[in-house]
Amino acid sequence: MAHSESKETQNLRHRAPRSSAGGETDVDPIRRRIMQRVRQRDTLPELAVRRFLHQKRYRFRLHVDGLPGSPDIVLKKYRTVIFVHGCFWHRHQGCRRTTTPKTRHQFWQAKFSANVKRDAISNESLEALGWRVIVVWECQTTTVLGLTQSLKSLLEFQTKPQS
Ligand SMILES: [Zn+2]
Repeated sequence: MAHSESKETQNLRHRAPRSSAGGETDVDPIRRRIMQRVRQRDTLPELAVRRFLHQKRYRFRLHVDGLPGSPDIVLKKYRTVIFVHGCFWHRHQGCRRTTTPKTRHQFWQAKFSANVKRDAISNESLEALGWRVIVVWECQTTTVLGLTQSLKSLLEFQTKPQS
């Protein structure tokens, strides 16, 4: 990672929500290219969560499009879905990565509130369908402790006796 990159560019590296494609005609070409590049699957935070779950011998599916919000990880056996959210794009509250670009304030605010709203709707729809929804924030994926804490409800579920 080049040290000359701005904080904003570093944040843009993380994936934007997939469903926000389109409607971005007012984005300048360079920013658009950056955004397209980062809007990809298999981000580092996602890989960290998958590796962690593998080590715990969980079986899961990825990017299930048939479910609201296309969750990143689906553990059918545990009726649990996991979203791995970038702190910047999904506005992790109180997180130092949740910065707001200085320029084009309204553009970003609109984008952020649309993301947050979409997340809330996905969450509600999934819960209505009987899924447990876990959000793992990007900043929690850098340590085993962070992963363990964010996935606590899943890990505890596993240790419960089967009835
Ligand atoms: Zn965060």
